Amino acid sequence: ASTAELLLSRIRDVPDYPVEGVVFKDITPLLADPEAFAALTAELAELAERYGATKIVGLEARGFILAAPVAVSAKLGFIPVRKAGKLPGATLKQGYELEYGTAEIEVHAEDLAPGDRVLVIDDVLATGGTAEASLALVRRAGAEVAGVAVLMELGFLGGRARLEPALGGAPLQAL
Ligand code: IMP
Repeated sequence: ASTAELLLSRIRDVPDYPVEGVVFKDITPLLADPEAFAALTAELAELAERYGATKIVGLEARGFILAAPVAVSAKLGFIPVRKAGKLPGATLKQGYELEYGTAEIEVHAEDLAPGDRVLVIDDVLATGGTAEASLALVRRAGAEVAGVAVLMELGFLGGRARLEPALGGAPLQAL
């Protein structure tokens, strides 16, 4: 079976979570399978190399789990983008719209600089709001967007179209 089939087989659909009517994509079976987790890490590390990334950004919280082993494997630094209020140092902050209300994410300002080429990694691309805000942070820090890589893209939510302007021609890869 292909890597994509292996990965897909380790993702569990949880109906009515976190609210009724939503089918949550649960990646914990994949994380618990060393073969699948290693295959995912290898694919993402290869993307990092192909895109010429010099830094790996992971989005809190499941993006951290996927991005950290990629950074080690690709021998690149790992930069956390966190929900507001969690990072102790001087930060850049970016707000974005949720279905109901707004949210804010942050990055340590000193972690990204002009000359960096950043690969942003998360588990799921849904509406694209989180990824879009993270790309704004990367650009505001003066760094370049090498690309965005996610395990899964929920195509019916239109995240790819929303992300397109922020990508500025950089690739969005869903495994
Ligand atoms: P977006 O901002 O609407 O694209 O939502 C993406 C964020 O929500 C990511 O950080 C995901 O981790 C999380 N997310 C949304 N839907 C799911 C899901 O079905 N499974 C796991 N995470 C999800």
